[in-house]
Amino acid sequence: MTSVCMHETAIAGNIIDIVTETGRRHPDVEIKRVRVVIGEMIAVVPELLLHAYDSLITDTPLQYSSLDLTIIPVTANCSQCDASFGIDEFEFTCPFCQSSSIQLTSGHEFYVKEVEVEPCPS
Ligand SMILES: [Zn+2]
Repeated sequence: MTSVCMHETAIAGNIIDIVTETGRRHPDVEIKRVRVVIGEMIAVVPELLLHAYDSLITDTPLQYSSLDLTIIPVTANCSQCDASFGIDEFEFTCPFCQSSSIQLTSGHEFYVKEVEVEPCPS
């Protein structure tokens, strides 16, 4: 039994890599808040991701920052009847015509949307 989930740890590591790269180009600022957009298809548990992030930022340029998550729901478009709808419970069929020929239109997002910084209190 382990208290750290590999999936969330990998994603937190990924976010930290992206932001560290940004921080390197601006050494005179302190990173305060990192806003990340994640689609539901990535299947992240927000509490676990925040926990992984907090434990990984120790002794990095991000150590005083907090993570702000926006979860994007999964939506799809039906190729048969052209309806747009949200996906609940990972039920991948059209609720209008029961077709399974659908295209996901959101839910796979994963990117750093914004990084809030403050001048270093030197
Ligand atoms: Zn349909």
